[in-house]
Amino acid sequence: MAHNDQMSVEEEEEYIFYYDDKYLYNEKWYHISFPTDWAKSHEESTGPTMCENCDHFGSIEGIFLGYCANCANYIYNGERGRGFIDVGQESTDENVLCFDSIFDTYLKDVDINQILSIDDTIIHTNYNSDDEYVNDNDMGNSIIDCHFENGYNDF
Ligand SMILES: [Zn+2]
Repeated sequence: MAHNDQMSVEEEEEYIFYYDDKYLYNEKWYHISFPTDWAKSHEESTGPTMCENCDHFGSIEGIFLGYCANCANYIYNGERGRGFIDVGQESTDENVLCFDSIFDTYLKDVDINQILSIDDTIIHTNYNSDDEYVNDNDMGNSIIDCHFENGYNDF
């Protein structure tokens, strides 16, 4: 009887490089909270490498956070969030309020105002200067506060 448990599960064609609170995949930086499954499964013409809107509106400091409103609605039908209409700003269109906000799901505990560009992250980590970077809520909390409790989708 042949034993077939020689499956080398190690071989990973799709390499993900983790750095601080980010990861690099396919030459794009993603926030660590962005599901890697999604990063590996962008539908054609969506996501930061294939959609300019995703790349621009869905990223902060060059770190990808989520899809643009077009992709989120028309391609993913809300399964990957409501979509960004501006940098750091999710769509609040009536049609999408029934979808889960990414600020309630994978970005729940992320302060997007604290996101550093990869250059700043590297400088920051190298100098290891503990907590000089504490600028708490001096701006932009309004963005995060605009949650809508109704029309919640439980999957
Ligand atoms: Zn897009």
